[in-house]
Amino acid sequence: MIKAVYDNMKSFQPKNHFTVGIIDDVTHTSLEVKTGFHPAPAGTIAAKFWGLGADGTVGANQSAIAIIGDNTDKYAQGYFAYDSKKSGGLTVSHLRFGDVPIKSTYQIDNSDFVACHKSNYVEIYDVLKGIKEGGTFLLNSPWSVKEMEKFIPGRVRKTIVDKKLKFYNIDAVKIATQAGLGGRINMIMQTCFFKLANVLPVDKAIGLLKDDIKVMFGKKGEKVVSMNIEAVDKTLNNLIEIKVPKSWKDAVSTEKTVEKATPFVDQVMRKINTQGGDDLPVSVFTPDGVFEQGTAQYEKRGVAIDVPEWIPENCIQCNQCAFVCPHAAIIPIVATAKELKGAPKTFVTVDGKGKDMEAYKFRIQVNPLDCQGCGNCADICPAKVPALVMKSLASQVEGQVENHKFSKTIPFKTDIMKRDTVKGSQMFQPLLEFSGACAGCGETPYVKLLTQLFGERMTIANATGCSSIWGGSAPATPYCTNADGDGPAWASSLFEDAAEFATA
Ligand code: SF4
Ligand code: SF4
Repeated sequence: MIKAVYDNMKSFQPKNHFTVGIIDDVTHTSLEVKTGFHPAPAGTIAAKFWGLGADGTVGANQSAIAIIGDNTDKYAQGYFAYDSKKSGGLTVSHLRFGDVPIKSTYQIDNSDFVACHKSNYVEIYDVLKGIKEGGTFLLNSPWSVKEMEKFIPGRVRKTIVDKKLKFYNIDAVKIATQAGLGGRINMIMQTCFFKLANVLPVDKAIGLLKDDIKVMFGKKGEKVVSMNIEAVDKTLNNLIEIKVPKSWKDAVSTEKTVEKATPFVDQVMRKINTQGGDDLPVSVFTPDGVFEQGTAQYEKRGVAIDVPEWIPENCIQCNQCAFVCPHAAIIPIVATAKELKGAPKTFVTVDGKGKDMEAYKFRIQVNPLDCQGCGNCADICPAKVPALVMKSLASQVEGQVENHKFSKTIPFKTDIMKRDTVKGSQMFQPLLEFSGACAGCGETPYVKLLTQLFGERMTIANATGCSSIWGGSAPATPYCTNADGDGPAWASSLFEDAAEFATA
């Protein structure tokens, strides 16, 4: 963009009062920014990491920079791009290494190495955009080559062949789980990076990484240190170079057709969420800057590793799972026989328990693509034999996405139980669907409950902080309305003056 400004000054008739950074197709002030200009010094190695907020990717990359900077003659630099969702959101780390000082505090657009730390990102984002011919692509996935043909979109498989990429896969989640690290896959992915990027000899790099682990996790105790070292030791044997089938050259895109929503969701929100926001022209925004509400329901991020599976015969119908869920991703369904007509085969229901429920069928419905996998629901479930068991997201998507969609056709039964009880409150639609708060957030269950108790006559004056991020950061907002069109009115002040703001 800076080059475009200089080119403009050099031109025969320079544009006065120009803009860069936006595509102004309304007043036509923007300068043309040409692609293909790479100002980084020759010989710079560029690596890009697509990580999930809180999987440790950013911390691991910061220590990779320190290890390389401290132990080689190379200069190292990192630039980190986060979305506002923090835990469970997208983090893209841009790392550069070179023999001369690096002054590139901006995103990489032509990389030698790309690592994708979350398997479903290959479908959501254009992860290989700008990768150099002959570059290296590292994927964390549990997939065999056959499964890759099912889960990796054709455009990605074709790029792997067309650009002659070296393609590696590691099942980092499996190794982390075996080592007792849960979703913390950072040390595993960092070990792979050192093996593949060749910035320093791999044995030396792994030795330095282990020293770093002792410093980083020393305070957390010997056990945490040894779990991380075990994960590093298991990594290289499980890193597989994929023999790319020739047929991938002709792979056609298998992208799923996304259900149409509102023009704002289709043209603005979805583009921003898939990292295409910078390419949006001015004309798609409304002149008053108003963003639609209740749009988080279209995000369907699918970020959980495990989601709950309901075991009907063990359930005592207490609704506590729904009560504690920070993300409104599990709700009781109370339905009449008529409402169940046309239900999918796997939409199992049981007889309602108790006097109030005699006329109804009952079911706990999980919404797997909005669930964040915190496990709070399974932890709270008081049934003698667990009625919620955490299972892999992949095992639940096929049946439960369809079931969840069907469950939305069944109206909430708000006149059966007292609203101000744990059980009865869950008969009301949460008007906070579905907050992008961190998995297991301690704030959102309270606010979600407030919306179930008072949502249709509730006004929220939000101060700036976590609650304004999960409650209203662009482009998606979770506050929504019920079937009558009533819901919380929400506004946010930029400052910590919520009390004055609310009374103003
Ligand atoms: S795992 Fe967490 S987010 Fe998912 S349904 Fe249970 S409580 Fe909600
Ligand atoms: S907490 Fe357990 S027993 Fe209670 S409704 Fe949920 S699944 Fe059923």
